[in-house]
Amino acid sequence: MAAIGFENVGKRYPDGTVAVRDLSFEVAEGELVTLVGPSGCGKTTTMKMVNRLIDPTSGTIRLGGEDIAAADPVQLRRSIGYVIQQVGLFPHRTVLDNAAAVPVLMGRPRREARKRAAELLELVGLDPAVHGPRYPEQLSGGQRQRVGVARALAADPPVLLMDEPFGAVDPVVRERLQTEFLGLQRSLHKTVLFVTHDLEEAVRLGDRMAVYGQGAIEQLDTPSTVLGAP
Ligand code: ADP
Ligand code: ADP
Repeated sequence: MAAIGFENVGKRYPDGTVAVRDLSFEVAEGELVTLVGPSGCGKTTTMKMVNRLIDPTSGTIRLGGEDIAAADPVQLRRSIGYVIQQVGLFPHRTVLDNAAAVPVLMGRPRREARKRAAELLELVGLDPAVHGPRYPEQLSGGQRQRVGVARALAADPPVLLMDEPFGAVDPVVRERLQTEFLGLQRSLHKTVLFVTHDLEEAVRLGDRMAVYGQGAIEQLDTPSTVLGAP
């Protein structure tokens, strides 16, 4: 069974803009699919429909075979980690508490949540003893994105939605984050939708890449097939 399934999904915004015309595709469990294409072609809209920040105007999205329209939104968001380009960390909370925020909001004991948060900070390449007590503004851009990834992993969601998570960091740091993220995704066996407008990033990370045209996927295949390699 597919981890994520889109069936004839369309999205028209209230002002009449058709952001997504007709999407039908499936993502397997543990698969990383990159969504690549020019700005405005519907990538972010696709992602937002999966965690129900917005609802499609037509079609069905399934998570683990279940129609998300029938799911409890709170439950749904627990099973999905979401990381965007400018992660919104709580400015007045330490890095450790930011990483622990989701489980604490879910009612887990703070001690336990912090312990797990420290492990996650380490997983994303931060030192919990050094970076944990700092505040977000005391970190570099690359480090803040790492905290965003750690926080998204804190509820141990099977699915991660990554929307240009490394878009705002410089190329050298980005490459390091990509490599580390790929290792993390493989070892934790997460199903990932990863939006980027950087073709190189899409090729590097994707088991498959979904190449968007205006509001629809024009090609969905392995990077080597998309690039036409023999
Ligand atoms: P991408 O992520 O590929 O850049 P988006 O999904 O953000 O594309 O946007 C797809 C289209 O939908 C664009 O034309 C964009 O301007 C439009 N759009 C996005 N959000 C809204 C909104 N809230 N209301 C109206 N139009 C929107
Ligand atoms: P990264 O490679 O993770 O993006 P940088 O090269 O940008 O990191 O930053 C290098 C070091 O400088 C890091 O250890 C970071 O903690 C520190 N640093 C960056 N910006 C700030 C800041 N505004 N205040 C304090 N320390 C900072």
